[in-house]
Amino acid sequence: MEREQNVGKTKIYGCPTCQADTPHVIKGQKGETSALLCSNCGTGSLVQNDELYLYQLHWEEELRQILGSLEHRLDDDRHFD
Ligand SMILES: [Zn+2]
Repeated sequence: MEREQNVGKTKIYGCPTCQADTPHVIKGQKGETSALLCSNCGTGSLVQNDELYLYQLHWEEELRQILGSLEHRLDDDRHFD
């Protein structure tokens, strides 16, 4: 099944124990729910696939903004020559 393809992959999710966005390994999926395991503290979380998907979009957007601002800064540094 297509939905099994994410098992074993790592996704960023908000860990209730770490109180932070940490890498979570997808341990299994059943229907519309994924079982995640925090790779930092080992806490398990059950998350709706839709919610996880939206979380990745949000995270990737934030990451892109951070990387974008870093690139912008590097570009500025390069103007010295
Ligand atoms: Zn954790």
